[in-house]
Amino acid sequence: MTQKPTLPPITNLSRAELAQWCEENDQASFRSDQIRKWIYGKRVHQFEEMHDIPASLRETLEKEFHLFASEIVDHRIASDRTEKLLLKLHDGEHVETVLMRETSRRTVCISTQVGCAMGCVFCASGLLGLKRSLSTGEILEQILRIDRLLSPTERITNIVVMGIGEPLANLKNLLPALETLNEKGGMGIGVRRITISTVGLPDKIIELSNFGKAFNLAVSLHAPNDTLRTEIVPINKNIGIQKILKAADTYFEKTGRRVTYEYVLLAGKNDQPEHAKQLASLLRKRNAHVNLIPMNDVEELSFHKPLEPQTQEFTKILEQGGVNVTVRKRKGADIDAACGQLRLIQEKENDSIVPLTT
Ligand code: SAH
Repeated sequence: MTQKPTLPPITNLSRAELAQWCEENDQASFRSDQIRKWIYGKRVHQFEEMHDIPASLRETLEKEFHLFASEIVDHRIASDRTEKLLLKLHDGEHVETVLMRETSRRTVCISTQVGCAMGCVFCASGLLGLKRSLSTGEILEQILRIDRLLSPTERITNIVVMGIGEPLANLKNLLPALETLNEKGGMGIGVRRITISTVGLPDKIIELSNFGKAFNLAVSLHAPNDTLRTEIVPINKNIGIQKILKAADTYFEKTGRRVTYEYVLLAGKNDQPEHAKQLASLLRKRNAHVNLIPMNDVEELSFHKPLEPQTQEFTKILEQGGVNVTVRKRKGADIDAACGQLRLIQEKENDSIVPLTT
Protein backbone atom coordinates (compact mmCIF):
# COMPACT_ATOMS: atom_id res chain seq x y z
CA MET A 1 0.00 0.00 0.00
CA THR A 2 1.32 3.47 -0.86
CA GLN A 3 1.88 5.73 2.12
CA LYS A 4 0.58 9.29 2.28
CA PRO A 5 2.92 12.07 1.10
CA THR A 6 5.37 12.66 3.90
CA LEU A 7 7.77 15.30 5.16
CA PRO A 8 11.06 15.62 3.26
CA PRO A 9 14.11 13.86 4.71
CA ILE A 10 16.50 16.38 6.29
CA THR A 11 19.30 14.61 4.38
CA ASN A 12 17.95 16.20 1.17
CA LEU A 13 19.50 19.47 2.37
CA SER A 14 23.13 20.26 1.70
CA ARG A 15 25.27 21.92 4.36
CA ALA A 16 24.55 25.36 2.84
CA GLU A 17 20.83 24.66 2.53
CA LEU A 18 20.56 23.56 6.15
CA ALA A 19 22.47 26.67 7.26
CA GLN A 20 19.99 28.77 5.27
CA TRP A 21 17.07 26.94 6.84
CA CYS A 22 18.52 27.69 10.29
CA GLU A 23 18.83 31.35 9.38
CA GLU A 24 15.23 31.49 8.12
CA ASN A 25 14.11 29.93 11.38
CA ASP A 26 15.97 32.48 13.51
CA GLN A 27 18.66 30.03 14.56
CA ALA A 28 22.38 30.63 14.75
CA SER A 29 24.11 29.29 11.64
CA PHE A 30 26.42 27.02 13.69
CA ARG A 31 23.36 24.95 14.54
CA SER A 32 23.49 23.55 11.03
CA ASP A 33 26.88 21.93 11.62
CA GLN A 34 25.74 20.70 15.01
CA ILE A 35 22.69 19.00 13.51
CA ARG A 36 24.78 17.46 10.75
CA LYS A 37 27.24 16.08 13.27
CA TRP A 38 24.44 14.19 14.99
CA ILE A 39 23.11 12.82 11.70
CA TYR A 40 26.37 11.83 10.01
CA GLY A 41 28.70 11.31 12.93
CA LYS A 42 26.70 10.08 15.89
CA ARG A 43 24.19 7.55 14.60
CA VAL A 44 21.09 9.09 16.22
CA HIS A 45 17.68 7.70 15.29
CA GLN A 46 15.57 10.71 16.29
CA PHE A 47 15.89 14.51 16.49
CA GLU A 48 15.08 14.14 20.17
CA GLU A 49 18.48 12.54 20.80
CA MET A 50 20.36 15.67 19.65
CA HIS A 51 21.18 16.80 23.18
CA ASP A 52 23.01 20.05 22.51
CA ILE A 53 20.23 21.37 20.26
CA PRO A 54 17.60 23.50 22.06
CA ALA A 55 14.32 21.65 22.63
CA SER A 56 12.34 24.21 20.63
CA LEU A 57 14.60 23.70 17.60
CA ARG A 58 14.33 19.92 17.92
CA GLU A 59 10.53 20.30 17.87
CA THR A 60 10.68 22.47 14.74
CA LEU A 61 12.91 19.92 13.06
CA GLU A 62 10.44 17.19 14.01
CA LYS A 63 7.58 19.15 12.44
CA GLU A 64 9.37 19.94 9.20
CA PHE A 65 11.52 16.92 8.43
CA HIS A 66 11.96 13.21 8.68
CA LEU A 67 15.32 12.03 9.93
CA PHE A 68 14.62 8.78 8.09
CA ALA A 69 11.95 8.73 5.40
CA SER A 70 12.30 5.04 4.57
CA GLU A 71 11.39 1.91 6.45
CA ILE A 72 13.53 -1.23 6.72
CA VAL A 73 11.28 -4.04 5.48
CA ASP A 74 13.88 -6.79 5.17
CA HIS A 75 17.30 -7.26 6.74
CA ARG A 76 19.41 -10.30 5.86
CA ILE A 77 22.78 -11.32 7.20
CA ALA A 78 24.90 -13.79 5.25
CA SER A 79 27.31 -16.32 6.66
CA ASP A 80 30.25 -14.11 5.55
CA ARG A 81 28.66 -11.19 7.53
CA THR A 82 27.52 -9.39 4.39
CA GLU A 83 24.28 -7.60 5.26
CA LYS A 84 21.52 -6.49 2.98
CA LEU A 85 18.66 -4.10 3.62
CA LEU A 86 15.49 -3.72 1.62
CA LEU A 87 14.16 -0.20 2.21
CA LYS A 88 10.59 0.86 1.53
CA LEU A 89 10.47 4.47 0.36
CA HIS A 90 7.75 7.03 1.12
CA ASP A 91 5.85 6.13 -2.06
CA GLY A 92 5.94 2.39 -1.49
CA GLU A 93 8.84 1.70 -3.89
CA HIS A 94 11.80 -0.40 -2.75
CA VAL A 95 15.58 -0.18 -3.01
CA GLU A 96 18.43 -2.31 -1.73
CA THR A 97 21.65 -1.49 0.02
CA VAL A 98 24.44 -3.89 0.96
CA LEU A 99 27.23 -3.88 3.55
CA MET A 100 30.33 -5.93 2.76
CA ARG A 101 33.00 -6.71 5.33
CA GLU A 102 36.60 -7.48 4.41
CA THR A 103 39.31 -7.28 7.09
CA SER A 104 38.94 -3.72 8.47
CA ARG A 105 37.18 -2.47 5.34
CA ARG A 106 33.44 -1.79 5.52
CA THR A 107 32.01 -1.13 2.07
CA VAL A 108 28.45 -0.01 1.42
CA CYS A 109 26.92 -0.60 -2.00
CA ILE A 110 24.18 1.92 -2.70
CA SER A 111 21.33 2.22 -5.22
CA THR A 112 20.63 5.41 -7.16
CA GLN A 113 17.33 4.61 -8.88
CA VAL A 114 14.22 2.47 -8.39
CA GLY A 115 14.77 -0.04 -11.20
CA CYS A 116 16.92 0.72 -14.23
CA ALA A 117 16.36 1.72 -17.85
CA MET A 118 19.58 0.24 -19.28
CA GLY A 119 18.24 -3.29 -19.82
CA CYS A 120 21.50 -5.28 -19.46
CA VAL A 121 20.49 -8.86 -20.25
CA PHE A 122 22.12 -10.48 -17.19
CA CYS A 123 20.94 -8.00 -14.56
CA ALA A 124 18.02 -8.37 -12.14
CA SER A 125 17.66 -4.60 -11.57
CA GLY A 126 16.42 -3.74 -15.04
CA LEU A 127 13.90 -6.56 -15.44
CA LEU A 128 10.99 -4.34 -14.44
CA GLY A 129 12.30 -1.18 -16.12
CA LEU A 130 12.88 2.19 -14.45
CA LYS A 131 10.35 3.57 -11.97
CA ARG A 132 12.14 6.74 -10.85
CA SER A 133 15.40 8.24 -9.64
CA LEU A 134 16.21 8.55 -5.95
CA SER A 135 16.49 11.90 -4.19
CA THR A 136 19.74 12.96 -2.52
CA GLY A 137 18.26 12.11 0.88
CA GLU A 138 17.13 8.67 -0.28
CA ILE A 139 20.67 7.95 -1.49
CA LEU A 140 22.26 9.13 1.78
CA GLU A 141 19.72 7.37 3.92
CA GLN A 142 20.93 3.97 2.68
CA ILE A 143 24.38 4.68 4.12
CA LEU A 144 23.00 6.09 7.37
CA ARG A 145 20.82 3.01 7.86
CA ILE A 146 23.82 0.71 7.42
CA ASP A 147 25.97 2.94 9.65
CA ARG A 148 23.50 2.44 12.48
CA LEU A 149 23.78 -1.34 12.18
CA LEU A 150 27.54 -1.32 12.77
CA SER A 151 29.15 -2.04 16.11
CA PRO A 152 30.62 1.00 17.94
CA THR A 153 34.11 0.01 16.81
CA GLU A 154 33.19 -0.31 13.13
CA ARG A 155 33.21 2.57 10.61
CA ILE A 156 32.10 2.75 6.99
CA THR A 157 35.33 3.06 5.02
CA ASN A 158 34.27 2.70 1.38
CA ILE A 159 31.27 3.42 -0.83
CA VAL A 160 30.52 1.72 -4.14
CA VAL A 161 27.73 3.15 -6.25
CA MET A 162 26.94 -0.24 -7.79
CA GLY A 163 23.45 -1.02 -6.53
CA ILE A 164 20.19 -0.67 -8.43
CA GLY A 165 20.09 1.95 -11.20
CA GLU A 166 22.44 3.87 -13.45
CA PRO A 167 24.26 6.43 -11.28
CA LEU A 168 25.20 8.74 -14.15
CA ALA A 169 21.54 9.00 -15.15
CA ASN A 170 20.95 10.55 -11.71
CA LEU A 171 24.07 12.69 -11.28
CA LYS A 172 21.97 15.67 -10.20
CA ASN A 173 20.96 13.94 -6.96
CA LEU A 174 23.98 11.67 -6.58
CA LEU A 175 26.70 14.35 -6.53
CA PRO A 176 25.31 16.30 -3.55
CA ALA A 177 25.01 12.98 -1.68
CA LEU A 178 28.64 12.12 -2.44
CA GLU A 179 29.71 15.61 -1.36
CA THR A 180 28.08 15.09 2.01
CA LEU A 181 29.74 11.69 2.37
CA ASN A 182 33.07 13.24 1.53
CA GLU A 183 32.82 16.43 3.64
CA LYS A 184 34.52 16.59 7.03
CA GLY A 185 31.25 17.66 8.67
CA GLY A 186 29.53 14.85 6.79
CA MET A 187 31.01 11.36 6.96
CA GLY A 188 34.54 12.24 5.93
CA ILE A 189 34.94 9.36 3.45
CA GLY A 190 37.79 10.18 1.06
CA VAL A 191 37.07 10.46 -2.68
CA ARG A 192 39.52 7.63 -3.32
CA ARG A 193 37.29 5.38 -1.28
CA ILE A 194 34.20 6.18 -3.35
CA THR A 195 33.62 4.30 -6.62
CA ILE A 196 30.97 5.11 -9.19
CA SER A 197 30.06 2.29 -11.58
CA THR A 198 28.45 3.22 -14.89
CA VAL A 199 27.09 1.44 -17.94
CA GLY A 200 29.17 4.03 -19.83
CA LEU A 201 27.38 7.29 -20.71
CA PRO A 202 30.16 9.37 -22.37
CA ASP A 203 28.65 12.87 -21.87
CA LYS A 204 28.03 12.16 -18.21
CA ILE A 205 31.54 10.75 -17.73
CA ILE A 206 32.88 14.06 -19.07
CA GLU A 207 30.54 15.99 -16.76
CA LEU A 208 31.82 13.95 -13.83
CA SER A 209 35.43 14.55 -14.86
CA ASN A 210 34.75 18.31 -14.59
CA PHE A 211 33.19 18.07 -11.13
CA GLY A 212 36.50 18.52 -9.36
CA LYS A 213 36.49 15.42 -7.17
CA ALA A 214 38.53 12.41 -8.22
CA PHE A 215 36.13 9.58 -7.45
CA ASN A 216 37.04 6.13 -8.74
CA LEU A 217 35.27 5.36 -11.97
CA ALA A 218 34.27 1.83 -13.00
CA VAL A 219 32.90 1.29 -16.49
CA SER A 220 30.74 -1.78 -17.15
CA LEU A 221 32.14 -2.90 -20.51
CA HIS A 222 31.13 -6.60 -20.64
CA ALA A 223 32.15 -7.10 -24.29
CA PRO A 224 35.16 -6.27 -26.49
CA ASN A 225 33.22 -5.35 -29.67
CA ASP A 226 30.08 -3.38 -30.42
CA THR A 227 28.06 -6.23 -31.94
CA LEU A 228 28.40 -8.32 -28.80
CA ARG A 229 28.12 -5.37 -26.42
CA THR A 230 24.86 -4.23 -27.98
CA GLU A 231 23.46 -7.75 -27.47
CA ILE A 232 24.46 -7.74 -23.80
CA VAL A 233 24.06 -4.03 -23.01
CA PRO A 234 21.30 -2.79 -25.36
CA ILE A 235 21.88 0.92 -24.60
CA ASN A 236 25.23 0.49 -26.39
CA LYS A 237 23.41 0.64 -29.74
CA ASN A 238 23.42 4.46 -29.60
CA ILE A 239 26.83 4.84 -27.96
CA GLY A 240 29.58 2.45 -29.04
CA ILE A 241 32.70 1.28 -27.22
CA GLN A 242 35.13 3.82 -28.76
CA LYS A 243 33.17 6.81 -27.44
CA ILE A 244 33.10 5.29 -23.98
CA LEU A 245 36.83 4.55 -23.96
CA LYS A 246 37.56 8.09 -25.12
CA ALA A 247 35.44 9.59 -22.33
CA ALA A 248 37.10 7.28 -19.80
CA ASP A 249 40.55 8.37 -21.08
CA THR A 250 39.50 11.98 -20.49
CA TYR A 251 38.39 11.02 -16.98
CA PHE A 252 41.82 9.56 -16.29
CA GLU A 253 43.62 12.60 -17.73
CA LYS A 254 41.56 15.05 -15.65
CA THR A 255 41.47 13.19 -12.36
CA GLY A 256 44.58 11.01 -12.44
CA ARG A 257 42.43 8.07 -11.35
CA ARG A 258 42.98 4.79 -13.16
CA VAL A 259 39.68 3.59 -14.65
CA THR A 260 38.37 0.11 -13.86
CA TYR A 261 36.54 -1.86 -16.54
CA GLU A 262 33.99 -4.32 -15.21
CA TYR A 263 33.36 -7.41 -17.30
CA VAL A 264 30.62 -9.84 -16.27
CA LEU A 265 31.56 -13.31 -17.53
CA LEU A 266 28.58 -15.05 -19.14
CA ALA A 267 29.27 -18.69 -20.04
CA GLY A 268 29.40 -19.25 -23.80
CA LYS A 269 28.56 -15.61 -24.55
CA ASN A 270 31.51 -13.29 -23.85
CA ASP A 271 33.98 -15.62 -22.11
CA GLN A 272 35.87 -17.13 -25.07
CA PRO A 273 39.64 -16.75 -25.60
CA GLU A 274 39.06 -14.53 -28.64
CA HIS A 275 37.03 -12.13 -26.47
CA ALA A 276 39.88 -11.93 -23.98
CA LYS A 277 42.35 -11.23 -26.80
CA GLN A 278 40.14 -8.46 -28.23
CA LEU A 279 39.69 -6.97 -24.77
CA ALA A 280 43.44 -6.99 -24.18
CA SER A 281 44.08 -5.15 -27.42
CA LEU A 282 41.47 -2.50 -26.51
CA LEU A 283 42.96 -1.87 -23.08
CA ARG A 284 46.66 -2.70 -23.16
CA LYS A 285 47.80 0.83 -24.00
CA ARG A 286 45.53 2.36 -21.40
CA ASN A 287 46.16 2.80 -17.71
CA ALA A 288 43.27 0.48 -16.97
CA HIS A 289 42.28 -2.28 -14.65
CA VAL A 290 39.85 -5.09 -15.51
CA ASN A 291 37.55 -6.54 -12.88
CA LEU A 292 36.11 -9.85 -14.06
CA ILE A 293 32.77 -10.69 -12.43
CA PRO A 294 31.53 -14.26 -12.80
CA MET A 295 27.76 -13.85 -13.41
CA ASN A 296 25.57 -14.19 -10.32
CA ASP A 297 22.61 -16.36 -11.21
CA VAL A 298 19.24 -14.63 -11.49
CA GLU A 299 16.28 -17.02 -11.51
CA GLU A 300 14.49 -15.31 -14.42
CA LEU A 301 17.58 -15.27 -16.64
CA SER A 302 19.21 -18.06 -18.58
CA PHE A 303 22.82 -16.81 -18.35
CA HIS A 304 25.30 -18.44 -15.99
CA LYS A 305 28.88 -17.98 -14.86
CA PRO A 306 31.58 -19.93 -16.72
CA LEU A 307 33.37 -22.89 -15.16
CA GLU A 308 36.47 -22.03 -13.16
CA PRO A 309 39.03 -23.12 -15.85
CA GLN A 310 37.41 -20.78 -18.42
CA THR A 311 37.64 -17.86 -15.99
CA GLN A 312 41.29 -18.69 -15.31
CA GLU A 313 42.06 -18.93 -19.02
CA PHE A 314 40.35 -15.57 -19.67
CA THR A 315 42.36 -14.00 -16.85
CA LYS A 316 45.62 -15.45 -18.15
CA ILE A 317 45.08 -14.12 -21.68
CA LEU A 318 44.44 -10.63 -20.32
CA GLU A 319 47.54 -10.77 -18.14
CA GLN A 320 49.67 -12.02 -21.02
CA GLY A 321 48.23 -9.19 -23.10
CA GLY A 322 49.61 -6.70 -20.58
CA VAL A 323 46.35 -5.85 -18.78
CA ASN A 324 45.90 -5.59 -15.02
CA VAL A 325 43.15 -7.94 -13.95
CA THR A 326 41.35 -9.21 -10.84
CA VAL A 327 38.43 -11.60 -10.43
CA ARG A 328 35.70 -10.35 -8.10
CA LYS A 329 34.97 -12.50 -5.08
CA ARG A 330 31.35 -13.33 -4.47
CA LYS A 331 29.90 -11.89 -1.26
CA GLY A 332 26.66 -12.65 0.51
CA ALA A 333 25.71 -15.52 -1.82
CA ASP A 334 23.26 -17.01 0.67
CA ILE A 335 21.14 -13.84 0.98
CA ASP A 336 20.46 -12.96 -2.66
CA ALA A 337 22.94 -10.11 -2.31
CA ALA A 338 23.42 -9.64 -6.06
CA CYS A 339 22.14 -6.35 -7.32
CA GLY A 340 18.36 -6.06 -7.56
CA GLN A 341 17.44 -9.57 -6.51
CA LEU A 342 15.75 -8.74 -3.23
CA ARG A 343 13.65 -5.99 -4.73
CA LEU A 344 12.59 -8.36 -7.49
CA ILE A 345 11.49 -10.97 -4.97
CA GLN A 346 9.62 -8.25 -3.09
CA GLU A 347 7.79 -7.10 -6.23
CA LYS A 348 6.87 -10.71 -7.03
CA GLU A 349 5.62 -11.49 -3.57
CA ASN A 350 3.71 -8.22 -3.55
CA ASP A 351 4.47 -6.96 -0.09
CA SER A 352 4.36 -10.35 1.57
CA ILE A 353 7.90 -10.47 3.00
CA VAL A 354 7.83 -10.75 6.76
CA PRO A 355 10.35 -8.26 8.19
CA LEU A 356 13.33 -9.84 9.90
CA THR A 357 14.57 -8.08 12.99
CA THR A 358 18.10 -8.00 14.27
N1 SAH B 1 24.35 0.77 -13.82
C1 SAH B 1 25.66 0.73 -13.28
C2 SAH B 1 25.73 0.36 -11.81
C3 SAH B 1 24.86 -0.76 -11.32
S1 SAH B 1 25.35 -2.39 -11.81
C4 SAH B 1 26.55 -0.15 -14.12
O1 SAH B 1 26.09 -0.68 -15.13
O2 SAH B 1 27.74 -0.27 -13.83
C5 SAH B 1 26.87 -2.66 -10.97
C6 SAH B 1 27.68 -3.80 -11.55
O3 SAH B 1 27.05 -5.06 -11.26
C7 SAH B 1 27.81 -3.70 -13.05
O4 SAH B 1 29.12 -3.97 -13.46
C8 SAH B 1 26.86 -4.77 -13.50
O5 SAH B 1 27.19 -5.19 -14.77
C9 SAH B 1 27.03 -5.83 -12.44
N2 SAH B 1 25.95 -6.83 -12.41
C10 SAH B 1 24.64 -6.64 -12.58
N3 SAH B 1 23.96 -7.81 -12.55
C11 SAH B 1 24.86 -8.78 -12.34
C12 SAH B 1 24.79 -10.20 -12.21
N4 SAH B 1 23.65 -10.86 -12.29
N5 SAH B 1 25.93 -10.87 -12.01
C13 SAH B 1 27.13 -10.22 -11.93
N6 SAH B 1 27.25 -8.88 -12.03
C14 SAH B 1 26.14 -8.16 -12.25
